[in-house]
Amino acid sequence: MGEHVRVAVIGAGFGGLGAAVRLRREGITDFTILERADSVGGTWRDNSYPGCACDVPSHLYSFSFAPNPDWPRTFSGQPHIRAYLERVADTFGLRPHIRLRHEVQSMRWDAERLHWEIETSGGALTADVVVSATGPLSEPRLPEVPGLAGFPGKVFHTARWDHDYDLRGKRVAVVGTGASAIQIVPAIAPDVQRLTLFQRTPPWVMPRTDRAITAAERWLHRQLPFTRAARRGLLWGIRELQVSAFTKHPGRLGLIESLAKANIARSIKDPELAAKLTPSYRIGCKRILLSSDYYPALARPHVDLVASGLKEVRGSVLVAADGTEAEADAIVFGTGFHVTDMPIADRVVGAEGRTLADHWKDGMQALRGATAAGFPNWMTIIGPNTGLGNSSMILMIESQLNYMADYLRQLDVLGGRAALAARPSAVGRWNRQVQARMERTVWSTGGCTSWYLDAQGRNTTVWPGTTGEFRRLTQTVDMAEYEVLRARGGTRGHTPDRAGAAAAGEAAV
Ligand SMILES: Cc1cc2nc3c(=O)[nH]c(=O)nc-3n(C[C@H](O)[C@H](O)[C@H](O)COP(=O)(O)OP(=O)(O)OC[C@H]3O[C@@H](n4cnc5c(N)ncnc54)[C@H](O)[C@@H]3O)c2cc1C
Repeated sequence: MGEHVRVAVIGAGFGGLGAAVRLRREGITDFTILERADSVGGTWRDNSYPGCACDVPSHLYSFSFAPNPDWPRTFSGQPHIRAYLERVADTFGLRPHIRLRHEVQSMRWDAERLHWEIETSGGALTADVVVSATGPLSEPRLPEVPGLAGFPGKVFHTARWDHDYDLRGKRVAVVGTGASAIQIVPAIAPDVQRLTLFQRTPPWVMPRTDRAITAAERWLHRQLPFTRAARRGLLWGIRELQVSAFTKHPGRLGLIESLAKANIARSIKDPELAAKLTPSYRIGCKRILLSSDYYPALARPHVDLVASGLKEVRGSVLVAADGTEAEADAIVFGTGFHVTDMPIADRVVGAEGRTLADHWKDGMQALRGATAAGFPNWMTIIGPNTGLGNSSMILMIESQLNYMADYLRQLDVLGGRAALAARPSAVGRWNRQVQARMERTVWSTGGCTSWYLDAQGRNTTVWPGTTGEFRRLTQTVDMAEYEVLRARGGTRGHTPDRAGAAAAGEAAV
């Protein structure tokens, strides 16, 4: 028999590393993390573009069980977040479990043996349970632009920044005005000869209150950990209070919209440019972006805003949908990710021999954001409708880790060889409730299209409630929502390893 593990975790970003810490805390050491890249970090390894930083304050955008009293800035940069995740892997003893350069190519549910057969670029294995933490924003999306193949210059995506290419003195085109692009534009503007930004729809942008966290604050957070916890609690609470405006009363966002308009007026004196930068949809419909240097960068004389999408490339000339032309030496695509059509779904084959992608062809849905009907003992971290518009994804990840832990406890209670299969009726009920609540939200009523919506226009990405509510709803597994599957013959026992649990308590990193 080939190699077998109790749990295979896919991905070594916040989700996968968090799952691993939680597994050890539960006393489970028979697990492996399969990661396609050659280091941990996920989002924070892949996105190394100039200016890359979190847009949720660091003291909230970090694990509750791995506090970092030494965050250097209120919104720390990518190198610090990546280093933090490396430290999490070390501090919690995760390295022996991690297999780098192991891309999961396929996984198939074996209904006889009740396990997953997993093929990776580094070999095959089987697992009782798969925890898929491949990330909602890990597959860059490049639009199909006629003529792009003939572009003589450099082309890359924001999540695959080419650090060997020197942008200094070059004519650079940035395509897209999402969260990454608005960090890149001010970061590269001082160095490039000319910067042309192609904007299909303007984002709403609010000032970012980024500042260095003082040595005194850091000392206080180290010496008196409750000050750090209080800071995190405050950051969390403020964001929880904002949720009802997004989910139930979009009209209340009007006040924030006027602040965002004032932000444009403060930085942009040219009325024509200000008009191009003012969105026509309700604030919050697309993610509200935070930046204090984006508008000032656009006001610089060598930066041009083309208020139209890129339509075609003719040699080194970029042509916008409105006919505007700009010549460039390099094109940077800030065009987002495959969110509602994630490639991993093509690689998962469930109990009925169907891929997850096929199962989800009319829209992604998962019970409590985690499990899918027809895919026993498989769960995803940051699954459908678990994304947030205004708070830290780590809160949602930690809720899902509670759910994962209870799922494994339930399997232990069942004993022997068993699997849990989400009942289609339970998944359907959950999804109907989520979608019914979605109707009132600003994401549905705000008059925009966004990457939150799938090809059918359904919002299958965002959670329409508070993070506190999601925490309550994922605290334990409701066994009435699952069917218990039993293997015919043979047992494979699991002995929880309490020594592993001891190694995985809270630790400052
Ligand atoms: C630029 C940027 C900024 C962001 N800022 C914030 C923020 O400020 N606040 C916030 O809450 N969220 C933010 N996010 C969202 C962010 O993605 C999540 O917060 C979080 O990092 C997701 O963690 P994850 O582990 O689920 O996914 P990821 O970090 O994407 O990790 C997934 C991992 O799975 C691996 N993988 C994928 N497919 C396979 C496969 N087939 N086989 C093996 N391994 C595979 C990938 O290589 C990757 O390492 C940001 C996202 C981006 C792109």
